[in-house]
Amino acid sequence: MEANLPAAIGFLAEVRQDGARPLEPVFAAHGSLARWHERTADRCLHTALVHSGAPDEAYARDRGRTLVFAGELYNQGELIGLLPGRVLPGSDAALVAALFDVYGIHAFRLLNGRFAALLADPGRAVLATDHAGSVPLYVSVAPGRVLAATEAKALRAAPRGRPVPEGRPVRRLPGTHQVPAGSVLDIEVSTGTCIPHRTWAPPLARRILPEDEAVDTVRHTLERAVRTRIDPGTPLVVLSGGIDSSAVAALAADRSAGPIDTVSMGTDEADEFRQARVVARHVGSVHREITVPTADLLRGLPHAVWAAECLDPDVIEYLLPLIALYLRLGGEEGDGYTGRRILTGYGADIPLGGMHRENRLPQLDTAVCHDMATFDGLNEMTPTLSTVAGHWSTHPYWDRDVLDVLVSLEAGLKRRHGRDKWVLRAALDDALPHEVVVRPKLGVHEGSGTTSSFSRLLADADVPRSRVHQAKRLVVEEIFDQVVVYGRHPDEVAVHAAVELVAGRLTHQARPALR
Ligand code: ATP
Ligand code: MG
Repeated sequence: MEANLPAAIGFLAEVRQDGARPLEPVFAAHGSLARWHERTADRCLHTALVHSGAPDEAYARDRGRTLVFAGELYNQGELIGLLPGRVLPGSDAALVAALFDVYGIHAFRLLNGRFAALLADPGRAVLATDHAGSVPLYVSVAPGRVLAATEAKALRAAPRGRPVPEGRPVRRLPGTHQVPAGSVLDIEVSTGTCIPHRTWAPPLARRILPEDEAVDTVRHTLERAVRTRIDPGTPLVVLSGGIDSSAVAALAADRSAGPIDTVSMGTDEADEFRQARVVARHVGSVHREITVPTADLLRGLPHAVWAAECLDPDVIEYLLPLIALYLRLGGEEGDGYTGRRILTGYGADIPLGGMHRENRLPQLDTAVCHDMATFDGLNEMTPTLSTVAGHWSTHPYWDRDVLDVLVSLEAGLKRRHGRDKWVLRAALDDALPHEVVVRPKLGVHEGSGTTSSFSRLLADADVPRSRVHQAKRLVVEEIFDQVVVYGRHPDEVAVHAAVELVAGRLTHQARPALR
C-alpha cells in the first residue's frame, strides 16, 4: 500500500484485566500486520493492526491513554483550529487523542471522517464509529475484558460476551455485537458496564431553499468532500457514467494537477462502457474498462460476503460487481503493485431518494426516512470491500456534511421538473455533458447484470420464481456462516454448493404446499 492511504485500515484490540492470551488476528482486509502489547497497572492492551506502512501513526499515547484508530478524517483543518497553541498533531490518531483530552467523548461529535476507534483509558475502554458506521466495528464485552475489531470474523473465537446496550447482535456469534453508526460506547472494563452515546443521527427536519441556493450548497459541499478525499497521488474514480460517479469524476478532475484515472466494470452480459466513455473523454481521464465473465462474478459471492459481512442480498448485489472490479485492479504485491485511493459515487441515492422512481413527494421522503433509519448494520460503505485487494475506497456522498445537506433538503428539490436527483443534476450542469446530467439512474446491480444473473443461477437450480429473493437471502446467510462464523477462506466456499443446499431446502418445503 502507499503511504498516502490511511495509516491503519483495520484492527483487533483487546483491553484485558483477565490475563488471558490474545486472539489470533483474522482479517479480510489485506495489508501488513503489526502487533502491539502494552501493560499498565490495571490492564493489558493487545493490538493487531492492518496497516499501510506507518503503523505508529495509527496510535496515539498520552498520560496512560492509548488510542487505536483505523481510517481517516476529512475535517482536520477545522479540528486543528480547536486546539490553539498546542503542538500540531502529526496524525489523525494524535488529533483525535488531543481532542479527547479537551472534549472527552464529545470529541467524536466533532469528527467528519471514515473511521473506527478504540481508546483505552485507565479503567475504561471507549469505542467509536463515524457518523455512518462506515468502518464497521464489533465488540465482545465481559467483566475484565473488552475485545473490539473492525471485522466480526476477528472475534469469532472470542469467549461469549454479555449483551451490549444498543449493540446489534451478530448472526451466530453469541455475545458479539456491532457498534451502531454514529456512536460511542463508554465501557467500564472491570464490570463490563457499557454506556452508549449517539454522536450523529440523520436529520429529520427539512430545509426549504430557493433553487439557486440549494444547487450552490450541494455543489460547494460536494466539491469540498471530493477535495478532502484527494491526496497528492492521482485519484482513481470508479465510474459508471451515471450522474453520481460522473459528478465525483468531474470534481476530482477539476482539483487534480494531472489527469485522474477512471475505471469501469462490465460483464459479458451487460455494461455501461459507452456511457462511461463519454464522461472519461469529457474529464480527460486515463480510462480503463474491465470485463468480468458472469460466471466469475457469481463465483465471487463468498468474497463479497467475507469482506462486507453483510446478510442483505440486495446490498450484496450492489457490492458484488464492485468487489469484482477492486480485485482486478492491480497485479500482485512486489510486482510494482501499490494500493490505490479510490473515490466512488456510492450512496447518493439514499439521501436523494434516487431509487424511488415515482413522482410523488410524500413517498419520496418516506423512502429517504426509511433508508436513513435502516442503513446501519448493512455495511454498504465498508472499506473492506476494497481493502481485500489492498485499496482504500471512500464515498464523498456519505461525507458527514454532504449527507447532512442532502438528507435535509425538502423533497421537492430532490424530484423537480420531472427529474429524480434534480438538485444534484442541476449542481453539475456546467461540469458534465447534458446527456450525462439527464441520464436516468441505472443501479450497479442492473448495469452489470448482477441481479438477473444471480436470479438465473437460482432458477436454474429449480427454485420457484416466487421464492428467488428468499433463496438469495438464504444463500447469503449460508455463505456468511461459512466465511464469517466458521472462518473459512472464501476461495474454499463453492457458491453452487450453497445454491444447491438452499434450492433443496426450498423445493422440499414447497412440495407439500403444492399438493
Ligand atoms: P446513477 O445512480 O445515476 O446510476 P451511478 O451509476 O454513479 O449513478 P450507482 O448506480 O448508484 O451510481 O452505483 C454506485 C457507484 O458504484 C457508482 O457511483 C460508481 O462509483 C460505482 N459503479 C457503478 N457501476 C459501475 C461500473 N459499471 N463500473 C465502475 N463503477 C461503477
Ligand atoms: Mg448507476
